[in-house]
This record gives sequence, C-alpha cells and structure tokens, in this order.
Amino acid sequence: MKRIIVAIDGHSSCGKSTMARALARQVGYIYVDTGAMYRMVTLYALRHHIISPASASSDLRISIDEEALRRHIEAGDVDVRFRLDAETHAPLACLNGELVEDEIRGLEVSQCVSPIAALPFVRTFLVRQQQLMGEEKGIVMDGRDIGTTVFPQAELKVFVTASAQVRAQRRFDELQAKGEKDVSYEAILKNVEERDYLDSHREVSPLRQADDALVLDNSHLTREQQTEWLLQRFSERTAE
Ligand code: C5P
Repeated sequence: MKRIIVAIDGHSSCGKSTMARALARQVGYIYVDTGAMYRMVTLYALRHHIISPASASSDLRISIDEEALRRHIEAGDVDVRFRLDAETHAPLACLNGELVEDEIRGLEVSQCVSPIAALPFVRTFLVRQQQLMGEEKGIVMDGRDIGTTVFPQAELKVFVTASAQVRAQRRFDELQAKGEKDVSYEAILKNVEERDYLDSHREVSPLRQADDALVLDNSHLTREQQTEWLLQRFSERTAE
C-alpha cells in the first residue's frame, strides 16, 4: 500500500485532532498536531513576558514584543517537539523538555495564540519543522495551512468545519470534563469566533480551503462516523 501525506485543516475546535489522531493510530502513521506547536510558542512568550495586555487606548487585546520573540527563536531558545506517551504512544507537547500538554489547552494560551500564529517568522520557524517531519510520508498532520502551505502536494486533503456553536459546546464539554469549571460557554464561543476571524484574515497562510480538499461538515456526525468517513477516504487514496 502506498504511503501518503494526509493534511487535515479547518476551523478551531471542530474535532480535527480527534479524527486525525484516530486515523493515524488505525493505519500506523505519525500524527502531528500543528496547533500544539503554535500553542507552545505562545506559552513560551507568555512565560517570558513577551506578551502583555494591551494598553487601554489600543484596539488590540494583547501586545507582543515581536523583536524579543524573534531573538529567542533565532537563538534556539524555543524548543518545540513531541514526546510519545510511554503507555498510549500518543504524542505529548513538550516545550524545552517540559511536558505542557494541559497548559497549552487553557483559555489564556487560546486567547493569545492566533496573534502569535500570524507572525511570519513564527510560521517560517514551525513550517520548516513540519515539512521535515513529513519527508518520509506516512504522516497525518492537522492545522490551518497544511494542505495549502506545508504540504500542497499531500495526497489526501480534508477541510473540516462545523457551526461555531457546535464547536464551542464541544470545547466547553471537554474543559468541564477536565474539571475546568470556571470557563463559561459564552467565553469559549467568543474565543472560537475570534480565532476563526483572525486565522482567516491574517496575511501569511490564512485559513482557507485548498482547491483540491474534500470538505467535511461534522456538525451532525459522531466521532465514530467522522473517523469512519476519513478511513474510507484514506483507503481510496492509498489504493489508487
Ligand atoms: O488547532 P488549534 O486550535 O489548537 O490551533 C491553535 C491556533 O494555532 C489556531 O487558532 C491558529 O491561530 C494557529 N494555527 C495556525 N496554523 C496551524 C495550526 C494552528 O495558525 N497550522
């Protein structure tokens, strides 16, 4: 069976990672969550006070010391990688040697990640690493620009979407299940809508459907149904 690259893009919190991870597990491919990479850079910037709340007169909610972030990246101080969980073999986000899987999913990082991901030098830094990971193919990667920028040559491209309300409810349920009870559904909906806007309107690699991507609206699908759908498409492409 031929080894391929599977590129899964789409809006925030639409279940891309769940279906990408499930496919990779079933077919024995490497899974890469590129959102986690942008989240790790954001966490680094928060911890080093490179991101701060914007002044009252500014329209932007945060301000970023771009030059400082660029210096840290160029100096090799931001080490973003994944470590496989010893038991489940799931890839875990690892920033400068520290596991940060939970911390990068919180609302603070979610609120700052899209402006960080819009910075061209951050994208160059991460896209280069993503392309290296795919050199041998046999990879499922999810994000916003995988089918358009990272792997325009990917054999299977999927663009996933669902209504903002459905996506916010899913993220809310996830956080509740993890015990994060002080985040409201409204705050999450606002965050989902803001990220959709910023991700689709930035200058470099905006979120958009690749011309040759298959579209999946999963508003009314269960996890099992969407994974089954993806597995079918994968079987078709690898059999060609
Ligand atoms: O996928 P996730 O919601 O974790 O991604 C977090 C953020 O990272 C997105 O809202 C987007 O701003 C950014 N991102 C990106 N390009 C990617 C993956 C994520 O700009 N390939």
